[in-house]
Amino acid sequence: MKTPIPEYLDEICRNARRDTSGSPAEYIPELANVDPEKTALALCTPAGKVYSTGDDEHLFTLQSASKPFIYAIALRDRGIDAIDDIIDVEPSGERFNDISVDPDNGRPRNPMINMGAITAHTLIGDPSMTPQERVDYAIACLSDFAGRDLDVNVKLRDSELTGRYRNLALAAMARSNNYITVEPEDAVWGYTTQCATQVTVRDLAVMAMTLANGGKNPITGKEVIPRQVCRRVLSVMATCGMYDAAGDWLTSAGLPAKSGVSGCIFGALPGQVGLSAFSPRLDEVGHSVRGIDMLEQCSQSMDLHL
Ligand code: GLU
Repeated sequence: MKTPIPEYLDEICRNARRDTSGSPAEYIPELANVDPEKTALALCTPAGKVYSTGDDEHLFTLQSASKPFIYAIALRDRGIDAIDDIIDVEPSGERFNDISVDPDNGRPRNPMINMGAITAHTLIGDPSMTPQERVDYAIACLSDFAGRDLDVNVKLRDSELTGRYRNLALAAMARSNNYITVEPEDAVWGYTTQCATQVTVRDLAVMAMTLANGGKNPITGKEVIPRQVCRRVLSVMATCGMYDAAGDWLTSAGLPAKSGVSGCIFGALPGQVGLSAFSPRLDEVGHSVRGIDMLEQCSQSMDLHL
């Protein structure tokens, strides 16, 4: 007899809790203070049924897990060709905050590293938007993916902004090459606010399933992004979503995924499942140790490998 889904998820989460290696991100002061034992796992089906286990009501910030969704909105709002001229889709194989640009023209390498993601944030909505309007719009779009109204952890955002200088340098570089046309301070403020949007592991599983569902939220039925945009985003997640560990991840777990430095990770397998996991201790690449373990266990036992 097959194990029912809730017990199956419980067991994966229990196994993952045994691993106490890694440590929470320290470069954002507020992130260093989180309870490192928090661990949660969720799965959303194409019919919009969400199963979850562990600390599944705990709110955490999306951080880099926001990047694929905001890139999707930029593609939807400005068109794929227009965005391709500004942000490349080549894997960088580098750390998330490396200066990763095309040497010929300074174009950001891809939308999953910070320079590309900060640029993507400035390309959503209408070019005439104020920084506050753009942020409000970003949160509204992330909420469409989640199927409920999300908000921002302002304390964490402000804490991250105290150490914003590297991201500011990346934004200034993109600005100097005219890929960003707003003030670098505004771009980084907006991007950092976007990263501080808070969700539960259940929200993130619904967001993942929306990507796995051709862009249609499985709970609200809203078409958040067109199917061809969705396909593009999943491809970029597969090749660039896991930074310098992207190759290892795709060979081991075999599904498009994106992690965030808060300790979250999500994976989307088209037509099949949206998965999300959370636990703050990170490995040396910056991925959640237990999160990676839980998604790999799910992938192996459910045979999700592409
Ligand atoms: N807000 C973080 C940064 O830009 C995101 C990094 C991450 O989650 O990998 O530094």
